[in-house]
Amino acid sequence: MSRKSWIFETLCKSPTDLDTIVEQYELTKFRTEYTSVGVKYTYRCALCKKFPSCAMQLQAKQLSMTDVDTFEISKFGKHDHEKRALTTRNFC
Ligand SMILES: [Zn+2]
Repeated sequence: MSRKSWIFETLCKSPTDLDTIVEQYELTKFRTEYTSVGVKYTYRCALCKKFPSCAMQLQAKQLSMTDVDTFEISKFGKHDHEKRALTTRNFC
């Protein structure tokens, strides 16, 4: 069963914390957006090429323009590595 909403995970107090979480979850950054309060990063599964059905995503949102070190971390879905990308073998 996959959840369809972002779930608050934790508050990051430093870029090092953020790196640790990203590493822990085996993610890779794939989008950077700039909002009115600062930057927002979206990460997805580092193995998504191998497992295209993996829905794991993480979002790190800067909470305040004046505090560049604090990020709100939200999680979306979870790793799903049941199905590997099919190496299509055609017998024709
Ligand atoms: Zn994954």
